[in-house]
Amino acid sequence: MITLTYEYKLIPDKQQTEVIENTLNVCRSVWNFALRERKDWLSSRKSPVNACSLKKEYIIPADSPYPNYHVQAKYLTEAKKTSERLKSVNAQVLQQVLRTLDRAFLDMKSKNLGFPRFKNKYRMRSFAYPQMLKDCVKDSQIKLPQLGWVKFRKSRDIPNGFEIKQARIVRRASGYFIMLSLQLEVSIPDVPFHGHPLGIDLGLDKFLATSDGQLVHRPRFLNQLHSELKLLQRRLRNKQKGSSNRHKLNQRIARLHQRVSDTRKDWQFKLAHSLCDQAQSIFIEDINFISWAKGMLGKHTLDASFGQFVSILKWVAWKRDVFVAEVDKNYTSQICPNCGSHTGKKLLSVREHNCSECGYKTHQDVAAAQVIRNRGVENVDTELCRSVHIERSRNALGHGVSENACGDGLAGAAMSSQESVKQEILKCEFKNHRCFSSVIMSIPE
Ligand SMILES: [Zn+2]
Repeated sequence: MITLTYEYKLIPDKQQTEVIENTLNVCRSVWNFALRERKDWLSSRKSPVNACSLKKEYIIPADSPYPNYHVQAKYLTEAKKTSERLKSVNAQVLQQVLRTLDRAFLDMKSKNLGFPRFKNKYRMRSFAYPQMLKDCVKDSQIKLPQLGWVKFRKSRDIPNGFEIKQARIVRRASGYFIMLSLQLEVSIPDVPFHGHPLGIDLGLDKFLATSDGQLVHRPRFLNQLHSELKLLQRRLRNKQKGSSNRHKLNQRIARLHQRVSDTRKDWQFKLAHSLCDQAQSIFIEDINFISWAKGMLGKHTLDASFGQFVSILKWVAWKRDVFVAEVDKNYTSQICPNCGSHTGKKLLSVREHNCSECGYKTHQDVAAAQVIRNRGVENVDTELCRSVHIERSRNALGHGVSENACGDGLAGAAMSSQESVKQEILKCEFKNHRCFSSVIMSIPE
């Protein structure tokens, strides 16, 4: 099964905008209420039996169950009978909020993420319709529960044969967007290892180095706009909380951030395509980017957003039949790619790899990339390699790679075989990635 997420700009009229805003508001109340309920329950179980606090204590009967998703969903159905405000919003949308909260609690344990937070009106930014009707799209209009027919900018066609499963409406600084998750019931075999192998080393000094000796500079997306951001944020301090001037200023800041992230995503897609031009098999390190971002260079790591790049790379590679695999990240910078001997720990300032055993000389990052490539090829032979492929089960409710609609749609040819499906998806991507050479520099041999 293939799942794609396509994103379109929504053009709601005034009344529809009000409905969207109201939905967001009710979703926020449900989120905050449910979170409070869970927090209270947890706090009530923390107090020692023999030593209650003098100030306040959460007292919830010992036999009351933990408010998990099912308990809360039941409450919600009951509350809907009496509350006009809850009635004004689609029931599935509200259930989805509870489900998201439930997942946030699970992720906190399994992925070591932070405790879910209460949301103010700026933080609640999206809601989802988990079920969509068939034929809900006509020309450049989409039929949504409660909203009716809403116009959107159809920047690319929905590929033939795909069914619209879910829709998520997102509010951004630049307006409202709709993310459609499209599904097609076919199974496509994974890409095997083949052709020219390429190792990639990610870093902060250079964005990446390939085993073929290419170095890609890290564009400082945030740096360019940093002074402008700083100025606006300094002004924010003098504005009163909740005032309309503060709101306006916040919107300007948000638009600036939006611009940074759009530029970055575009650049990363182009880079991923240019890498896939060069090789049929790509190896990367299995780095945990979340812990990286917590380190000393956190701001720069986030600015480079390696995690997003890796998922974009996997996605582009899958579409273009390029094999991608992750290899063990340890000691990649301490091994000579030519003779395999340990060269020891190096300072970050040493940018040259110079092997004392065999005399092999190259750029440090390129050497690391070559080690990654060698490791990958070795692993493929011994079948240790974990083949990674894009998580095709992701949908509009998750955070899969969603592409910016690029304007050139898919030709409406009928799809007969599995391969043609992929080719159809591929077609639209090939046109606009050829202009990517200015940021790459090669080092002389
Ligand atoms: Zn050597």
